[in-house]
Amino acid sequence: MLTNVFVEGLLASLVAGLITGVGGFMIFLKKKYSQDNINFMLNLAAGVMLAASFFALLVPSMHKILQFDHDVHVAAFWYSLAVFTGVALVWVLNALLPHEHNNMGTHGPHISLKKAWLFIIAITLHKLPEGLAVGVAFSAEDFINPLSLVIGIALHNIPEGLTIAISLVGANVSRLKAALTALLIGMVQPLGAIIGLLTMDISDKIVPLGMAMAGGTLLFVVINEILPETYGFKRTTKSAFAVFAGFIFMTYLSMVLD
Ligand SMILES: [Zn+2]
Repeated sequence: MLTNVFVEGLLASLVAGLITGVGGFMIFLKKKYSQDNINFMLNLAAGVMLAASFFALLVPSMHKILQFDHDVHVAAFWYSLAVFTGVALVWVLNALLPHEHNNMGTHGPHISLKKAWLFIIAITLHKLPEGLAVGVAFSAEDFINPLSLVIGIALHNIPEGLTIAISLVGANVSRLKAALTALLIGMVQPLGAIIGLLTMDISDKIVPLGMAMAGGTLLFVVINEILPETYGFKRTTKSAFAVFAGFIFMTYLSMVLD
């Protein structure tokens, strides 16, 4: 049975996923993107994601779970466990599958196709929990506005799509093929959303727990995947500025859309 929530959530995640392709096609805009520029965009996106995970998932689910369980300790226990489960899930997924961080030759220094793909696997991997978060957010539509999370994820898909394309072009893949690959990888998000939408459909009570879990997965992605990558390159004030700018932008958006 296709409910409204299911269709809406699927469409939203599809649009967000397609934005990865927009990022991919940005490879045609400029001959060369400097590592600095890419890091700036990734950091902005990290700030956006950080705020989105707090304001769209972690905080509202915290309030909801307190309504279900009047013993605060019981509620806090389940809530914390759910966040931890989300973190552990991506951690295990990351440990099991071969991937590589820190690649990205800007069209310049050539990298091997294998290295490019290992990096792309890393991005593909974390797109699943991102999609899941969108699916879960739509299942919680009656007490949150899932739009801010969708916008946050869609925005951060732009630099991610671009880095996919850049790493492939660095491995001598044509620009068109690279951009199309980015588009294809973006489609992992609607897949994650379907999983989120279907599992949350089981019971109302698991929705806030699912949100806490999805929040945990997003935190892991930002803290373990995006930030170390960009901060490791150069610890510039610019990186920190970008994270804060993204965070504040998303904070504003979350309040306006709420
Ligand atoms: Zn991502």
